[in-house]
Amino acid sequence: MKRLLPALLLLAAACKQKEYNADMLVKNAVVYTVDSNFTTASAFVVSGGKILAVGNADSLEQKYNAREVVDAQGAAVYPGFIDAHAHFYEYGMGLQEVNLVGTHSWPEIIDSVKTYSERNTDGWIIGNGWDQNDWTNKHFPDKAKLDSLFPVRPVILSRVDGHAAIANQAALNIAGVKPGQTINGGEIETNNGKLTGILVDNAVGIVTRKIPEPTPAMVDTALLSAQSNCFTVGLTTVDDCGLPYTMVNTINELQHKGDLKMRMYVMLADRQENYDYLFKHGIIKTPRLNVRAFKVYADGALGSRGACLLKPYADSAKWNGFLLSNPKHFEEIAPKIAAHGFQMCTHAIGDSAVRVMLKIYAANLKGKNDLRWRIEHSQIVSPQDIDKFGEYSVIPSVQPTHATSDMYWAGKRLGNERLKTAYAYKQLLKQNGWIPLGTDFPVENINPLYTFYAAVERKDLKGFPEGGFQSENALSRIEALKGMTIWAAKANFEEKEKGSIEPGKYADFVILNKDIMKVKGSEIPTTKVTKTYINGVKVYDKK
Ligand SMILES: [Zn+2]
Repeated sequence: MKRLLPALLLLAAACKQKEYNADMLVKNAVVYTVDSNFTTASAFVVSGGKILAVGNADSLEQKYNAREVVDAQGAAVYPGFIDAHAHFYEYGMGLQEVNLVGTHSWPEIIDSVKTYSERNTDGWIIGNGWDQNDWTNKHFPDKAKLDSLFPVRPVILSRVDGHAAIANQAALNIAGVKPGQTINGGEIETNNGKLTGILVDNAVGIVTRKIPEPTPAMVDTALLSAQSNCFTVGLTTVDDCGLPYTMVNTINELQHKGDLKMRMYVMLADRQENYDYLFKHGIIKTPRLNVRAFKVYADGALGSRGACLLKPYADSAKWNGFLLSNPKHFEEIAPKIAAHGFQMCTHAIGDSAVRVMLKIYAANLKGKNDLRWRIEHSQIVSPQDIDKFGEYSVIPSVQPTHATSDMYWAGKRLGNERLKTAYAYKQLLKQNGWIPLGTDFPVENINPLYTFYAAVERKDLKGFPEGGFQSENALSRIEALKGMTIWAAKANFEEKEKGSIEPGKYADFVILNKDIMKVKGSEIPTTKVTKTYINGVKVYDKK
């Protein structure tokens, strides 16, 4: 008996050591938990798609019997990245089209279109992204070559900004476009009594409106191809800003089938049928889908001088831009959105648009609150208005790569004085103590590490400018990481379920080949995601 006792004790201890079963143990990692103390750990345990425990490998290995062990080999692990402002579906549709961004000549474009047409043999050929300013011959092309290659199949290729396009005769026939035809706010180019195929501004829509609605199979393909690219850059949740309500079912079904694993926060577009649908339905919430917001457009973009400014553009006297709707429209919808308990997310870029919306928000929100109404972009904010974000708990939702894309010409549009309070992310962060970050892809690249880099370094991928663009508005690395994880989750009312690696939260996480909290600034953009997990399931492996 005396000899048996120590053995029994050992056995009891051994049993006690592996008290629980788990699906996965991630160890030998530098885990940035992004919890409230910004704690790091070396290991965590996953069970049933959720984080079960976080700590060090020794104690976790003693306690848990994990079916799978992931040895991170010292790599840095972060919560899955969240893009708080994107156009996921639109990006996916774009992937089905001919990508002409960066093409250098009309013959190169023709080659791309030919290659595409051989792989995609049916329906319209739609292309985007050409810019004749990048060509040696900077004149608009004509449609002759397209007509000879595609006498029957309609083709339309849009310029990079969408303000011009070239269509072939088959497409022009479908739209009923005739030589010499005129249109308000646009031009149908005619040369010697013949259509050249070039359409400018409002004329583009005459043809694009004739493009048939995508088939259900095309919609699914768009979502799934967008997803696979997003997994390679570590995104595990995307906010899709401005979908029609009909997409809600499509997304939900594709998620239920298990094909669409991406978690999505969907904002419905500002249209009556979307209000009718969601007001009747109430909030739609599943583990992977959350629909409780409306995306409203107050104005356009700064580049095309569509942003609505308080004072005229510095490079266009007497022109202030314009609001896309009468303010009455916003005044009418805001109380309805509030009464039904939904979130209002308004695109506002110019300081006048921001002011108009802040006033309308203030009238509905009354004071500090937790309704998390958002102003998307919040790009140019008058110094007189900035405190309103804090006073009314309005959330600025910003895209740091816009600052570094626009910096080359934003000063021309705004003048130096106004530029100082543009892209002022640090100032905006101070208002509520938190700020969600996004990209607005496909306007910018999908990569959240570019967001992180632009936010902290305020430089573009060429490393320009040396000291950073208006670097007083750079975010710290901790702030930028929070903006892509826990604060983005909070902007979606999801901070209790994701955005950090903490017990009870979804096991959405990424492993990187470098530690973005420590590498030299210049190494951030070349840092790669090596593995992406959603719900404890590996959805991307670089290998
Ligand atoms: Zn957008």
